[in-house]
Amino acid sequence: MSLFSNHMNSIHVSHHKGTAASESVVMPVPEKVYISMSQHIGKPCTPLVKKGDHVKVGQLIGDVDAFISAPIHSSVSGEVVAIEDNRNAMGGTDTFVVIATDGLQEPFEGLQIPVCETREDFIKAVRNSGVVGLGGASFPTHVKLDPKNIDEIDTLIVNGAECEPFITSDHRNMLEATDDIVSGIKLIMQYLELSKCYIGIENNKPDAIAKIKAAVADMPGVEVTELRSTYPQGAERVLIHETAGKTLHSGELPASVGCILSNVTTIMVIGEYFRTGMPLVKRNLTVAGDSVTNPGNIIAPIGTKYYDLIEFCGGYKSEPKKIIAGGPMMGRAQANDGGVVVKNTGAVLFFDEKQAAASRSTNCINCGRCHRACPVGLMPKEYAKAYKKGDAQRLKDLKIMECMNCGSCSYVCPAKLSLAFINTLAKDMVKGAGL
Ligand code: SF4
Ligand code: SF4
Repeated sequence: MSLFSNHMNSIHVSHHKGTAASESVVMPVPEKVYISMSQHIGKPCTPLVKKGDHVKVGQLIGDVDAFISAPIHSSVSGEVVAIEDNRNAMGGTDTFVVIATDGLQEPFEGLQIPVCETREDFIKAVRNSGVVGLGGASFPTHVKLDPKNIDEIDTLIVNGAECEPFITSDHRNMLEATDDIVSGIKLIMQYLELSKCYIGIENNKPDAIAKIKAAVADMPGVEVTELRSTYPQGAERVLIHETAGKTLHSGELPASVGCILSNVTTIMVIGEYFRTGMPLVKRNLTVAGDSVTNPGNIIAPIGTKYYDLIEFCGGYKSEPKKIIAGGPMMGRAQANDGGVVVKNTGAVLFFDEKQAAASRSTNCINCGRCHRACPVGLMPKEYAKAYKKGDAQRLKDLKIMECMNCGSCSYVCPAKLSLAFINTLAKDMVKGAGL
């Protein structure tokens, strides 16, 4: 089915939302945090502190003078013990500010609740909060809220779908931080002069739907859209289609159809920043998988190592054979539990032998399921072939750049081929060929 038809393909996935009822728990600060200077799409930040400096919670420790960027703040109080380069969750290398915590969690004295009069003030304040797309995209939010055609934008779409299996942190935020979410929505609508807002939530979260519906009942132009519990309801094109009823054509951004999209937790952070003046320094994330003794939703300082999360969750029940940063559909497999929590870490999953075995691959049997599952009608098996041959032109001709890496094709593939991952590499090949 194509992108231009009335319905978009979606698939049924096992939800594995066993942590949905687990209230978020604040974990104690670990002995050390490792804060990456590259937590957004765009130019990485430069550390503004040096070894031996004492820092406090919310203090600016990294920034860069680039349009697409976001500042980075200390998540703890303590002493900077190293500035070092190390591997990141995507397999590349980042610079990390390593801070030995003092356990006091003293807030930085310079924090202030922002006061805004104009849209420009608001955009500046959102940048100062350090917030980026927390649904996984990491695109700086202040840039997203400042499109060139702002006069043509009238709709905010809030992504509360959380369609990825296992992850329940957005769900918990909708239940536990409803007021901050509502206030974030009000601020965006007020300063961007938007008249409409759709909050899309999958119908497998009836408690969140009821709570948000009640909270926005008196807000004109704001409505909750109950989405089907199929994957990928939270993908940008699908969500715009299912909430505002608009179709995003190839190469278009949401702004071209009058919409701005934002993840519900991103909006929560904006609301919280305007309430407290504390920038983004912590992350609510789901720790799950059959290797975890006590899975749940944890509020952890940014820069926490995965092994510290595990320790807080009671240690390993069994040896993890696969660790994933994010969900199983769009997340990244990790080499070990030495990775760190960054702004967009919505989950870390630890799969045991049995869960990990489900992903061992064999040869393609030409069944066509990957094509039928693709929400935008692409041809994943052809991409795998063209990528193997190094044929960048064919990849481009088959519209590889429209792939949104939702992972539906990989999920339905009976041969368990990592089609979405191959697509990521294939897109890099096309870009590398300058096509
Ligand atoms: S990962 Fe890309 S090709 Fe695969 S189903 Fe999603 S959009 Fe289609
Ligand atoms: S779903 Fe898998 S096995 Fe079937 S055609 Fe696509 S790549 Fe081949």
